[in-house]
Amino acid sequence: MFMNPGLQGFGHPVSLDDILCTPLLASRKPSESSPALEAESFRRLARQLAHAPQELPQTVVEEALILCRVGSAGVSLLEPQPDGSVLFRWVAVAGQCAPLAGKSTPRDFSPCGACLDQNRPILFSLPARCFNYLAEAPAQIFEGLVLPLQADDRILGTIWIVAHDESRQFTSEDVRIMNGLADFASGALRLKLMSEEKAEVRRCHTETQQTLEEERRTFETALSNSPDFLYVFDLNGRFIYVNRALLELWQKSLDEALGKNFYDLSYPEDLANRLQRQIQMVIDTKEMVRDRTDFTSPSGETRHYEYIFVPVLDLDGTVEAVAGSTRDITQQKIAEDSISEDRQRWQALLAQTPAAIAILKGPNHTLSWVNTDFEVLVGRPANSLIGKPVLAAIPEAADQGLSVLLNGVYLTGIPFRVAQVLIRLGKEPKFLKDSYVNFAYLPTRDQQGVIDGIFVHATDVTEMVMARRQVEEREQQFRTLAESIPNLAWMARSDGHISWYNRRWYEYTAATPQAMEGWGWQAVHDPQILPTVMERWQESISSGLPFEMVFPIKGADGNFRDFLTRVEPVRDSQGSVVRWFGTNTDITEQRSIEQELRRINRELEEFAYVASHDLQEPLRMVNIYSHLLLEHVGVSDSKSEQFAGFIKTGVARMELLIRDLLTYSRTSQRNELPDATADLTDCLNETLLLLSSLIVENNAVIEFSELPTVRGDAGQLAHVFQNLFANSIKYRKTDVPPHITIWAEREEDNWKISVRDNGLGFEPRYAKKIFGLFQRLYSDEYPGTGLGLALCQRIIERYGGRIWAESEPGAGSTFCFLLPAEPAQ
Ligand code: ADP
Repeated sequence: MFMNPGLQGFGHPVSLDDILCTPLLASRKPSESSPALEAESFRRLARQLAHAPQELPQTVVEEALILCRVGSAGVSLLEPQPDGSVLFRWVAVAGQCAPLAGKSTPRDFSPCGACLDQNRPILFSLPARCFNYLAEAPAQIFEGLVLPLQADDRILGTIWIVAHDESRQFTSEDVRIMNGLADFASGALRLKLMSEEKAEVRRCHTETQQTLEEERRTFETALSNSPDFLYVFDLNGRFIYVNRALLELWQKSLDEALGKNFYDLSYPEDLANRLQRQIQMVIDTKEMVRDRTDFTSPSGETRHYEYIFVPVLDLDGTVEAVAGSTRDITQQKIAEDSISEDRQRWQALLAQTPAAIAILKGPNHTLSWVNTDFEVLVGRPANSLIGKPVLAAIPEAADQGLSVLLNGVYLTGIPFRVAQVLIRLGKEPKFLKDSYVNFAYLPTRDQQGVIDGIFVHATDVTEMVMARRQVEEREQQFRTLAESIPNLAWMARSDGHISWYNRRWYEYTAATPQAMEGWGWQAVHDPQILPTVMERWQESISSGLPFEMVFPIKGADGNFRDFLTRVEPVRDSQGSVVRWFGTNTDITEQRSIEQELRRINRELEEFAYVASHDLQEPLRMVNIYSHLLLEHVGVSDSKSEQFAGFIKTGVARMELLIRDLLTYSRTSQRNELPDATADLTDCLNETLLLLSSLIVENNAVIEFSELPTVRGDAGQLAHVFQNLFANSIKYRKTDVPPHITIWAEREEDNWKISVRDNGLGFEPRYAKKIFGLFQRLYSDEYPGTGLGLALCQRIIERYGGRIWAESEPGAGSTFCFLLPAEPAQ
């Protein structure tokens, strides 16, 4: 026997206190409620109550099984025994313990007894530890929740649920549901008791009256304790039942409420209209209505409610009444609002993201949200996309493999990413727009972790792809060009690693690309010169400055030829070097021509020197003997004097020419530079001394400020001043005395010396020409050889300087020369 009262006192290993754990109910997080499920239950129970109240206990425990999702549920009623003892009879049991229905347990040694003793819901953990007979239950009991059952003031027994699964832990939410069910069960049991009592009072005239009154009260008892508002309307939409909770909210008595509709109860008109319409809808359609509303109670507090109206059908399926239940969901609404706020915030963020984004839902990939960029990408407005399967909304995408891809992501949950894919999209099949897009398809999951959609993220990279193509095309053009030039050409990375050579390079060196890659070019260099090349190339790489050098490169025949190598950096928009482009130009021929030219020049100079030197002697002879001859002959006629004058002039000019030529030849460019320094003020003073008679004769004015000291030979630099001053006086205007001004200016690392006169001047186009050998603008009127300025240029250039002239006819001339400043200065 499962429950034999005789077993009372059977040894129990642990005490009742050990298995009681009621306080846990309050501390555990309440399980989630399901208003729809409860409303459904409520409807079934209401019907059961109306039609077969005696079977209600069984319905109640079955509902408990569903609502609480437990292993077993039961109703145990107190049953006095003939011997005066009392036990619990398990009148209704559902779930795994169902086979125990009809059995009994002792009043004073059972969880039910403990519950009645405490007269409140109690929670047991592993109750078999104390009540060892429970170990015989068909399934192990991990937790048990027991609630007292009472109608009016009569204690009837208990209602309970037990968990056969260790993970199922009861919470306050279970207590709430079970309280509701206990109300129903009590109501039903009271009815049952009444019907038993009915037989005895049948004889009474007030029988009907009483029963009705009792029924009403019972019904009310069943429903009034619920914290939810429970109510029933007749087919005219008038209240025929209102539970206590709702009456309290309204601050009305039952009598004030019964027979009234929402208008009568002064509900706001909008809300009353809606509620009355919905009641009528339930009556007409026999369909449940579920909705939400705000309601301000007479106390002035506004809260948010969810309500359900359900039809109550009779056995023929005709609507008898409409039952309603309303629950305060203010807390839930706040939570929902904050979720929806969150969602709005996310959507705003995604809407602004510079990428096309769409959210697809369900196995048909229905577009549930898109941002503006997505609208632009697919060429359609959001309202023609939302709510449609993506393949129907953007049919051209289906032909481009989208269907397979989306199904793959949806079924496998593996994200899919693809870069720079070409897609053709557009509303008009004839005018599809080509776009290059980076796509990411990511599965989205619901709260249970089940895939419920796909997040599509697309970035339009068309411009980038186009730009890259352009670069590639340009690079191709550049390579074609580089292949067509006769020079050796190559390209290196910013770090100097050479990645490409043109065909000419390989033809010349006969090397393989593998051997030349990177730094392999060193193999075709002269080992003697290579260290210098490396040093200078490394300097360029680290400074980013162009490289230029002449060095030999070994050809296929094993011989070295000289190449002028120029390397230019290629920079990006930020100015950083991204690569180097180098050319090697074979200058072997050019070099040998230059050498040959230099040799010939040298020979010419030597010849000029020797010639002018050797000519001096015979010329002196001509001069002396022509004098002697004239004296000796003693001719005094005018013709002879004229001829003698020609000889004199000719000899004088020749002497001048030879002297200048000799000076010029002596001023060799190849001479080593002197270490000496020259104070230009001294040079100038010396010149003035030398030219003093010329200056005095011409009334010339010379004006000068202090001049710097430079590196050079004082004698040669004085020669420059001498030539320039002499010219300024020689090419003077006849009506104005010569005025010469000399000054010095610092120009970066150089001194610029200027000599300005107020003489005849010349056409600017002759400014260069007059520095040439034997170049003269006024040949016969003025004595001269045309060598003076050539000599000046030679001297100045010898010291690393430069000389030039600026002039206008009639406006005087300015001769300027630059000389490197002494570093110390
Ligand atoms: P030369 O004076 O012996 O002819 P230069 O080489 O000194 O030779 O000068 C070349 C020519 O430049 C001169 O013949 C003259 O025509 C022109 N020239 C030089 N200096 C001046 C000057 N200060 N004013 C005008 N012309 C000048």
